[in-house]
Amino acid sequence: MTALIKLRIVQEVGRLVRVRSWRNHGWITCLQFFILALASTAAALGDEAVYQVLIIDGQNNHRWQETTPLIKATLETTGRFHVDVATTPPQGGDMSTFAPDFSKYDVVVSNYNGDSWSETTKAAFVDFVRGGGGFVSVHAADNAFPDWPEYNEMIGLGGWGGRNEKFGPYVRYRDGKFVKDTSPGRGGSHGKRHPFLIICRDVEHPITRGIPTSFFQAEDELYAQLRGPAANMDVLATAYSDPQTGGTGEHEPILMTIHYGQGRVFHTTLGHDTTAMRGAAFQITLQRGTEWAASGKVTQPAVTSAQLSDKEPIMHDPQELKFPQSNDAVDFGAIPDINAGDWVALFDGESLSGWVQRNGTAKYAVAEGTIRGVTEKGSPNSFLCTERDYSDFELTFEVKVDDELNSGCQIRSKSLPEYNNGRVHGPQVEIEASPGEAGYIYGEATGRGWLSPHQRPTKVMKNGQWNRFVIRAVGPRIQTWINGQKIEDLFDPTSYQEGFIGLQVHGVGNRGPFEVRWRDIRVREIK
Ligand code: ZN
Repeated sequence: MTALIKLRIVQEVGRLVRVRSWRNHGWITCLQFFILALASTAAALGDEAVYQVLIIDGQNNHRWQETTPLIKATLETTGRFHVDVATTPPQGGDMSTFAPDFSKYDVVVSNYNGDSWSETTKAAFVDFVRGGGGFVSVHAADNAFPDWPEYNEMIGLGGWGGRNEKFGPYVRYRDGKFVKDTSPGRGGSHGKRHPFLIICRDVEHPITRGIPTSFFQAEDELYAQLRGPAANMDVLATAYSDPQTGGTGEHEPILMTIHYGQGRVFHTTLGHDTTAMRGAAFQITLQRGTEWAASGKVTQPAVTSAQLSDKEPIMHDPQELKFPQSNDAVDFGAIPDINAGDWVALFDGESLSGWVQRNGTAKYAVAEGTIRGVTEKGSPNSFLCTERDYSDFELTFEVKVDDELNSGCQIRSKSLPEYNNGRVHGPQVEIEASPGEAGYIYGEATGRGWLSPHQRPTKVMKNGQWNRFVIRAVGPRIQTWINGQKIEDLFDPTSYQEGFIGLQVHGVGNRGPFEVRWRDIRVREIK
């Protein structure tokens, strides 16, 4: 067993201890520790691991005293990070005293641009990242250490500090692909601060999969003309540096990942000041990028166009971004246990008591212990709705739908005289045959279209058979599973968080008749 592997196991066990105490699961035996430590930690713990983060600050040509607390809050509001801060001596100070124990951390986040670290600390940092540690470079951290070759390799691209063509190429997005431009010139520039549109160029990376493909950042510096080795680098997103604001006329790399040894680096050029860091684009990409750097995956919920808009910058104080975390009542990392004892049936198998039809003329009736919905020619969408409202809950049912028919389950929906003549509207969990978009969330009659940012078709629905749906809606978080497979985990603070549950029979024009059946409909309210 190499020292490196031993080190990682020690780190994994340490992380297990921390995570397990956080989740209050009590003690487990040393043998179990060892077995678990040998398994993938994250897999052993489900989706809800807590990663240890070290932010480095202390010198910067930016106001690190103001921005470090925002970086810390942005990470901590996800519930996925425990954040420490290591502050170096001031400029000109004795840097030999700056020697953090990187091995205690899963990921180091740099908000630092200043004096060189000691050779010992530099070597320890290189060992940490090369050996599998995570690193996140925020804004002017990519100005730092021009004379440290390993650092330039880690960040991929850097700016200022005398960087020029000797440091590597510019990376340009031209004619739909990235090219390396070795023409001579300075490294690093930016025009006037302004809000700008970020466009994802790699939408399959864990950091960008699950967020809109383009979105505005708040007023910030749009870094341009960065240069560096650019080895093992993937540019996730670019922004157009407009000559009208003093830019280059190029699509400049904004978000990047770099593989360095066994380590993962997330490089964001965003975050000049507290205004920029109040931009949801900065926050959400930092949250996701830091988790990826720490673990190689992103388990955070998908993000809608309401949180990351391509029309205007969305701004938040980081604390407002908080979404519900696991607690005594809910473990978001696990599918709800439909065999627990505290579920309440919404359908008695014999009558439609407790239900009312809204909109449309499709026929709903009890048949063989199921609720059967049958299409009616020319009818708009029809809904069989619970008479009462539900806010935070888990919901399960089985459904069998004709291949030709689209259906869905409304949650937290409303029918209001003042809104489109009582049109049923709100989040809908899609129901349709495979291959299809079943399980993703649609904003029925809200004008918002899909609330899920992507709807990659799956084959999880068993056509012509009963399919088990499980839905959890708590605060702004909506999760769905079909036949035990997780489909969606959505952060959506825009939708209603209370309303009825409704069973949809979609309009079919002159086709049909088609039918959909539901049975074993149960809810477990979360107080
Ligand atoms: Zn700046």
